[in-house]
Amino acid sequence: MIMENDLTLLSAAARDYLSGQKQLFIGGSWRDAASGASLPVIDPSSGREICRIAAAGAPDVDAAVGAARAAFEGKVWRSMRPHQREAIMLRLADLIAGEAHALAEIETVNSGKLIANTRLFDADLSVYTLRYMAGWATKITGETMDLSVPYLPDLRFDGFTKRFPVGVVGAITPWNVPLCQAVWKLAPVLATGCTLVLKPSENTSLTALRLAELCAEAGVPDGVVNIITGTGAAAGQALVDHPGVDKISFTGSTRVGRLIGESAGRRFRKYSLELGGKSPAIVAADADLEAAIPGAAWAIYGNHGQNCCAGSRLLVHRSIFEEVVAGVADIATTMRLGPGLDPASMMGPLVSRAHRARVSDFVESARAAGASVTGGEVVEGEGAYFRPAILTGLALDHPAVREEIFGPVLCAMPFDTLDEAITIANDTAYGLGASIWTDSMRTAQTVYDRVDAGTIWFNTHNVLDLALPFGGLKDSGVGHELGREGLFSHTKIKAGVVPHAR
Ligand code: NAD
Repeated sequence: MIMENDLTLLSAAARDYLSGQKQLFIGGSWRDAASGASLPVIDPSSGREICRIAAAGAPDVDAAVGAARAAFEGKVWRSMRPHQREAIMLRLADLIAGEAHALAEIETVNSGKLIANTRLFDADLSVYTLRYMAGWATKITGETMDLSVPYLPDLRFDGFTKRFPVGVVGAITPWNVPLCQAVWKLAPVLATGCTLVLKPSENTSLTALRLAELCAEAGVPDGVVNIITGTGAAAGQALVDHPGVDKISFTGSTRVGRLIGESAGRRFRKYSLELGGKSPAIVAADADLEAAIPGAAWAIYGNHGQNCCAGSRLLVHRSIFEEVVAGVADIATTMRLGPGLDPASMMGPLVSRAHRARVSDFVESARAAGASVTGGEVVEGEGAYFRPAILTGLALDHPAVREEIFGPVLCAMPFDTLDEAITIANDTAYGLGASIWTDSMRTAQTVYDRVDAGTIWFNTHNVLDLALPFGGLKDSGVGHELGREGLFSHTKIKAGVVPHAR
């Protein structure tokens, strides 16, 4: 089986883009990092370097925040009429749509993900996100109200609120859905009149850099969107700590999110944190197994398990436990591994060999603890391939059961009563998503009411929509992306009071 991406299959646009060293996009122009440092971009199917990105440090971050601040204070974007911002956002959406295939190819080569996935979830969903948020630009409203003011009985007042853009947004994104994550950060910034400094993951920065070019082409004024690449420790930390940033919008691990929340909280900055998960998929005794078995498999193995709301804990009623586990294991063991550009591949490599080593360590530690393991082998060769795994027989306090693995590793466990399933489902620091597979409305409602998760799915999993607020409870985050909540979190609200006319 061919395990490396065949780069001769790439479109000319993608091939051109993948060559050469990439620079930082600051104030509408391109420049190297002040230190001249760069980082390699690796194709995880082969382990080969495909190009290099600039490794920004504190001086570059300072320049990018300065450009975003100047654009915000200069009102080049926020003073535009809302319908003008909407039109530019729609133009940007059209430009992304026009090169969706090349963007998907770049993402696949950079991240290892399947081309069908990068097309649907990175390129196409980015287009829909921009169109959805563009519609909001003309619909950002406050409220008016008749006030009581009981301590001034002789006077009457009207009250009103108005929403203003929050200012300079510092956004930091992970590597699992790179372009889409970048656009989820960008779109509400543009709709509300804010400005942006975005630092994508050092593993997968390429499509964000191309996005910067498309923003300029669409007519987004210089300085409104700035993209800096580099490591979390250098560029990310400098952005988080920069006094010129009004809001930090972070998506990534709970460990880093905690550091960011502490830093932003100390300085009273606004922040939103979209963090990790260990989401349960609960299969009740009355579930339709023809839907639940492939549904549970897709819940964990989709995007190679590199999905924040992956159904990584499978809780199955004891009466059907063997049947469900065998069904999911059958899907896992027959999944065809291969490079993301090959349309026949069902799972590509993980994002890097370093990440695969971390995933594999969880499986080996489970094996050492006496778990029954199906799959979970490292595939020999230069790529970062890993066979999807299903683990049973683990104690509930084993790290593989409790911690986010962020790879194609499923921990399955039986339960006897719905109460027990809910207790296990909630027995984690995380609270991002959960699914319940059942024919019973009462069971579904009980799970919805009692499981602590930002999204609950019924007889499905991993279904997100731009209109639905997406966010985590507990250690899975603070705040929301998407929907009206995600948009409004980029605004600050001011109240006003006026006396009634006499
Ligand atoms: P990560 O936390 O290691 O890195 C995320 C981003 O933060 C990267 O750009 C990284 O460079 C940067 N970073 C790292 N250290 C930093 C620091 N000290 N200061 C500032 N920035 C820093 O996460 P990852 O491995 O890239 O991504 C996987 C994680 O992302 C998983 O935990 C996953 O659940 C989470 N995730 C959450 C959501 C969600 O919406 N809840 C979506 C996708 C991914």
